[in-house]
Amino acid sequence: MVKDILVVKDLQVWFPVRQGFIESLVSKEQRYVKAVDGVSFNIKEKEIFCLVGESGCGKTTTGKGILRLVEPTGGSVKYYGKGKEILLKDMISDALAKGKITKAQAEKMTAEGGIDVRALHKSKMKKLRQKMQIIFQDPYESLNPKQSVYDIVAEPLVVNGIGATEAEREKRVVKALEDAGLRPPKDFMWRYPHEVSGGQRQRVGIAGSLVLEPEFLVADEPVSMLDVSIRSEILKLMLDLRDNKGLAFLFITHDLGVAYVFSDRIGIMYLGKIVELGPTEEVVKHPAHPYTKALISVVPTPDPEMRRNQIILKGERPDPSNMPPGCRFHPRCPFVMDICRKEAPATVFVSEGHWVSCHLEKGQAK
Ligand code: SF4
Repeated sequence: MVKDILVVKDLQVWFPVRQGFIESLVSKEQRYVKAVDGVSFNIKEKEIFCLVGESGCGKTTTGKGILRLVEPTGGSVKYYGKGKEILLKDMISDALAKGKITKAQAEKMTAEGGIDVRALHKSKMKKLRQKMQIIFQDPYESLNPKQSVYDIVAEPLVVNGIGATEAEREKRVVKALEDAGLRPPKDFMWRYPHEVSGGQRQRVGIAGSLVLEPEFLVADEPVSMLDVSIRSEILKLMLDLRDNKGLAFLFITHDLGVAYVFSDRIGIMYLGKIVELGPTEEVVKHPAHPYTKALISVVPTPDPEMRRNQIILKGERPDPSNMPPGCRFHPRCPFVMDICRKEAPATVFVSEGHWVSCHLEKGQAK
């Protein structure tokens, strides 16, 4: 059976809203922007799990919350990759030495496995991040223009104290550049970001993530800033990394077309929640949530018949600091019913591994 590498339960990332003087006099209640509000999913080893939704739905914040680049407000993130073993060993022997746990408890902790990412001290989190890396959206912004490609890719090694000598570090940089498809690496190492193309710049960013030999990557809109002709090359590179190096991905995108060709499973996000989740093929061919249906209907297609059936959502996305009651999608939903304005829908099973949160579905509750 394929094992989980990551399990996210009820993740919340809320940001307090700064109140003006008058507002603070009128209302004592602190308001929050609930960027991520109870998100749950798992990612298996070697799996590409895709979060899809329009901008502002909370998908990037979810990725950052998992890596604790923003601190979650609630929920749990458990990491089961091999990298956890180094940490678990450290933590358990520490706790045993300090008499905080018994030998039996230590054995139980080892057997259960899973590192509670949110509970880790900063120093341990830094260690775990070597195995959980991120690829950023914008290769133009994320690379320091004053650093050579070599310095950019070697930086994570320096920060994490990896590589006793410069020669050792160079060996790892060369390998990372090769794995990212920058071949021969020596042709790229001493160039600066402005001396390589957009696609190559994104490959430099990917090499910077690979140099620490991660097991899990959060890829945040990694192709959205690239020309269409280069996108498929970068997506192919990530598929190769999955197949050849066994990497698992949380792939974040607003483009359902990309998610369809690229991912194994998909989660559709709307206003801080996953409203539908399942195997990609199943969700795209048999969508159950009106929002998913609307997203699918506007994916460009050469079929004029399909173009006629587009579902164009009316109205604006509600203010995330002032969520509508009931179903969050109700102000824009073409199928809204009375109950949708009062009660949040339960999550129900649609088919194997496929679930949805919508009052229209009457399946068994999750
Ligand atoms: Fe639309 Fe109601 Fe379903 Fe929400 S619960 S998506 S408003 S039908």
